[in-house]
Amino acid sequence: MIQPPATLGMLGGGQLGRYFVIAAQQLGYRVMVLDPDLNSTAGRIADVHIAAAYDDRDALQRMAQSCAAITTEFESVPAETLAYLATFVPVQPSAEALATCQNRSAEKGFLKTHGFPHAPYADIRSESDALNASADLFPGILKVARFGYDGKGQVQVSNREEALAAFRQFGNEACVLEKKLALDHELSVVLTRCASGDVKCFPVAENHHQQGILDHSIVAAQGAAGEQSIKARSIAEKIALAMDYVGTLSVEFFVVDGQLYVNELAPRPHNSGHYTLDACLTNQFEQQVRALCGLPLGEPSAHSAAVMVNLLGDIWFANDPGQASEPDWEKLLAYPGLKLHLYGKGEARPGRKMGHFTVLGKTIETPYRTAMAARQAIGLSAG
Ligand code: ADP
Ligand code: MG
Repeated sequence: MIQPPATLGMLGGGQLGRYFVIAAQQLGYRVMVLDPDLNSTAGRIADVHIAAAYDDRDALQRMAQSCAAITTEFESVPAETLAYLATFVPVQPSAEALATCQNRSAEKGFLKTHGFPHAPYADIRSESDALNASADLFPGILKVARFGYDGKGQVQVSNREEALAAFRQFGNEACVLEKKLALDHELSVVLTRCASGDVKCFPVAENHHQQGILDHSIVAAQGAAGEQSIKARSIAEKIALAMDYVGTLSVEFFVVDGQLYVNELAPRPHNSGHYTLDACLTNQFEQQVRALCGLPLGEPSAHSAAVMVNLLGDIWFANDPGQASEPDWEKLLAYPGLKLHLYGKGEARPGRKMGHFTVLGKTIETPYRTAMAARQAIGLSAG
């Protein structure tokens, strides 16, 4: 067990890292953040921020010497970085698990090999792969295998010619072509698994996306409806076991005709788990700290129903498309049961995640109504 005031290492300085820093510091730990951005939102509140590249050997040496254990908030850190650090200190998740989750092709290969339900897909590694793709995969979505997020690096394609054009547009980078499914809705499970094998899942969130970016999550206090929720959690736990995953893992699901399909895995806490900050006895970031330090996992259950709404940089431009201005937060803060979170990022840009708010209540109806009214008050279109 790693005792406070040990220093914990965090690879990545975004908002997920920031909440890890807060959770770790609350438990008396110190945190060292590695992120090349001098102004990173987690780096600014960490005990130490090393502004260097994720493969900078001097920086990694420093982390290995200072940190009792290291984790990540960002799946695109090189897997070699985790493997290197793991030769000196405990690292969660493993380099192997990260390598699987950071590459859509490896991830889907893993799901396929282990018999987990997923959308029909094909690996597209060459122009001839695109031209010979099965007709069943159209209309489909061509996704770059690496570095895509928030719907970036994805194009809808209706036939082989469009798949080829999109593949070329991505610079002939390895891609996957996935059949476009008619989604009823989407779900996610965030879980934490300890080295001992103990697993705790948070209540299942129902997720609604706009333009490939999470817009809002709805969580009844017991999680999404009964049987489907139990099934989603069971699949997520089996995935963690099959990967021998240690740390916090997020599993996104599509629901199509009532059936669950695993969409993708994130080897870290997740935007759809932000509701846990306000609605659960232990939040997803504290759970990540606990697993990293070998502490007992916390109780993940929700004490309230919750609706979480993302605040993207777009609303900074609601008054003037050419000039960012601070939204009128008073309008949000006036709603009862609404908790506002802003990440302290310097510059607002369209599509950039700047913050979120969560509305809490005993049952889901009131927070849902309040959240939808609040989003309109702050200049977001109806969800
Ligand atoms: P990202 O890494 O950007 O989150 P995802 O693969 O999760 O990438 O895609 C983002 C969103 O786009 C999904 O949450 C879903 O709303 C939509 N989407 C992705 N793939 C499909 C698909 N095969 N069929 C229907 N919708 C999809
Ligand atoms: Mg996704």
